[in-house]
Amino acid sequence: MDIANPSEEHTMLREMVRDFVKEHVEPQALIHDRDERFNLDLLRSMGEMGLLGLTASEEFGGAGLDSIAAVIVHEELSASDPGFALAYLAHSMLFVNNLEQNGNASQKSRIIPLVSSGEWIGAMAMSEPDVGTDVLGLSTTATKRDDGSWVINGRKMWITNGCIDDEGTPADVVWVYAKTGTNGKGRAEISTFLVEKGMAGYSVGQKIMDKTGMRASNTAELVFEDCIVPADNLVGNIGDSMIHMMRNLELERLTLAAMALGISRRSLEEMNRYATDREAFGKRIRDFGQMQRHIGESWAKYRAMRAYIYDTASNMGLGESGHRLDSDGVKLFATTAAKEIADNAMQVMGGYGYVAEYVVERLWRDAKLLEIGGGTLESHQKNITRDLGKTPEVITE
Ligand SMILES: Cc1cc2nc3c(=O)[nH]c(=O)nc-3n(C[C@H](O)[C@H](O)[C@H](O)COP(=O)(O)OP(=O)(O)OC[C@H]3O[C@@H](n4cnc5c(N)ncnc54)[C@H](O)[C@@H]3O)c2cc1C
Repeated sequence: MDIANPSEEHTMLREMVRDFVKEHVEPQALIHDRDERFNLDLLRSMGEMGLLGLTASEEFGGAGLDSIAAVIVHEELSASDPGFALAYLAHSMLFVNNLEQNGNASQKSRIIPLVSSGEWIGAMAMSEPDVGTDVLGLSTTATKRDDGSWVINGRKMWITNGCIDDEGTPADVVWVYAKTGTNGKGRAEISTFLVEKGMAGYSVGQKIMDKTGMRASNTAELVFEDCIVPADNLVGNIGDSMIHMMRNLELERLTLAAMALGISRRSLEEMNRYATDREAFGKRIRDFGQMQRHIGESWAKYRAMRAYIYDTASNMGLGESGHRLDSDGVKLFATTAAKEIADNAMQVMGGYGYVAEYVVERLWRDAKLLEIGGGTLESHQKNITRDLGKTPEVITE
């Protein structure tokens, strides 16, 4: 059995995305990275192919596919343009899948068709200028008004798709985590809100420029200043955000690992081709032992991450939690390995590897973000160690 294409449907999905990437993603990747420009039209066009609502139910215009399908799409996009893939992830996983798993029927029937078609672009806002890993320390507040609506105040930082162009147009809809009080144990009570474009007090603070990588995705600071949100836009109950995060974070980490897989595959492809074409001292450079170490170790790491990622995907149901150990594990392993593999590719390709036209320098820059976004390496190390302390039997299962 092919773990990466376990059914005919998965194989067809991969072929469809691969064709789309070859025809539409690859030709624009270099220039959008160079110009730090997000290709909004290209993202919208994925709606027609059923990719924007990939894991949303068909009832609301989604494709109703599973975690393996989500890995396939992120792998294929990232083998060409990880920056664009990150914008896709923020929309389809962080917003659409979150709403699919956690929203109520009326929120889903109203918004999922709009985000699945690409008419609306979505984002997820958890991080703040002063808080990232320490989620419970966030300071954006939501206060209930007498009429049941909410007023949100605060700033969110590093939000992918937070703005959708260079004119400061905010995302059409944002999944926002805000503090609504303190629970009985004295811990912050965090609740989830859907903030929509046009709601008073919601705006873009700044588009964050000069990023090391992922330059084809827009990253923005969002401002909520006495932003009024209707009662219907509270997701679930007050204080439910931890449940929402648990239901979505595992898929987020798995798909970020899938991005690392795409980066690794392309890096390997590029270094392998170059090692045959390039000669030095009258030999192909692939005949030198030191080059063989770069290529051989990259292949083994690539194959190991591929197996671990698809194995984790095949066990991960959407909207479930309970796979934290492996969602942390795949992201920890794949992202560090992807950075090393892109680095190996650059080393094998010498000076050519160091310039944009030969692709791997972009992959090398993009790979670094995967060690930070969606949880830092240190948070994965911490979670894994904590979980293994609680359930040591999983090691010998
Ligand atoms: C390009 C980009 C896109 C992003 N997109 C989004 C998005 O769409 N939505 C969103 O909400 N966020 C987004 N983020 C934010 C991202 O998730 C955070 O940057 C990340 O969670 C880390 O938070 P921080 O930057 O505040 O670092 P901090 O949490 O301040 O961490 C700084 C360092 O301290 C370490 N550290 C912190 N706590 C501990 C601990 N307990 N033990 C050991 N070490 C610790 C960290 O591992 C890290 O090395 C994005 C970031 C970038 C750069």
